[in-house]
Amino acid sequence: MNRGLDALTTNIAKFLATSSDGYGIFDRNDKLIGCNQAFAEIFQYSHDEIINQSFADIARKSFLTKQGLKIDSDNIELWIAHALTRRRSQEFRVFEIDLIDGRWFLLSEQTLENGDMLTQARDITKLKINERNLSEHSIKLHNLALTDELTQIANRRSFIESVKAEISRCQRQHANMAFLLIDIDYFKKVNDTYGHFAGDKVLITMAKLIKTMLREYDIFGRLGGEEFGIFLAETSCQTAQEVAERIREKIMQTTMEIDGQSINVTLSIGISIAAQECKFETLYKEADVALYEAKHAGRNKVVMINGCAK
Ligand code: GH3
Ligand code: MG
Ligand code: MG
Repeated sequence: MNRGLDALTTNIAKFLATSSDGYGIFDRNDKLIGCNQAFAEIFQYSHDEIINQSFADIARKSFLTKQGLKIDSDNIELWIAHALTRRRSQEFRVFEIDLIDGRWFLLSEQTLENGDMLTQARDITKLKINERNLSEHSIKLHNLALTDELTQIANRRSFIESVKAEISRCQRQHANMAFLLIDIDYFKKVNDTYGHFAGDKVLITMAKLIKTMLREYDIFGRLGGEEFGIFLAETSCQTAQEVAERIREKIMQTTMEIDGQSINVTLSIGISIAAQECKFETLYKEADVALYEAKHAGRNKVVMINGCAK
């Protein structure tokens, strides 16, 4: 026998025995015929206990003792049957598993010619935690970029983006749509009388109130200052008018209690109705004309314009 190879085999055996990665070998009947200490510990067994256990035995024990493998099922036999359809389905397989104690492992399985299967399990818990933190962080950043900081509704950029997408969708489905441009009346006076900070709280309260009056799929955003936009998809002229009137009335009737002061505001609303072949910019321009008319007519009013159909 080659002495060099002997030495290598001995050293690999030593390495495997003490490795922090788990190594196990299952025979063709899926009974574990050998493993290191790390492998047994993953499944909450002692080394001697786990030898001769089948994959199904190991899974069953995890399920019953609520230790080891995390099994997201009420029916362990179904879970095992499903897992067995995947096991040995390829000569080499890599996948992630999570444990009840919160650890994650990357498992690689290599099926040998004689039917034995080598399994390596590497602890990837730290990587998974980093991955999760990074993804939470990027979701937060994404939301920050889309949200108006003061009112927590869509900011101008994300509002316009969503509306443009919705216009295309409505056009494909030949659906009606309406755009409401809302501006608070004499808001400068609110700031002058109650202070800028109270003015901010009026904006927050108003945005919250309007949000409760909309459907989940209506698009609502702050276009800047004290100007807000609402896009109503699949909505007729008449419904758009009703929605705008309801909002105008509700705000008119609401006395906001802000820092011990009672504040009332009114709204002017311009509505444009979109036809096919309509662009957001046209819709916005038309609603702005309608809003100007509402202001000119004395404020606290809703004015509708035919939008792109004109
Ligand atoms: P009108 O009825 O013609 O709309 O009168 P107005 O006073 O509301 O209109 P104008 O556009 O002249 O003034 C808007 C005011 O809104 C001016 C600005 O100080 C105030 N404003 C804009 N953004 C904010 C904000 O984020 N917070 C507060 N508190 N005030 C704001
Ligand atoms: Mg205003
Ligand atoms: Mg304004």
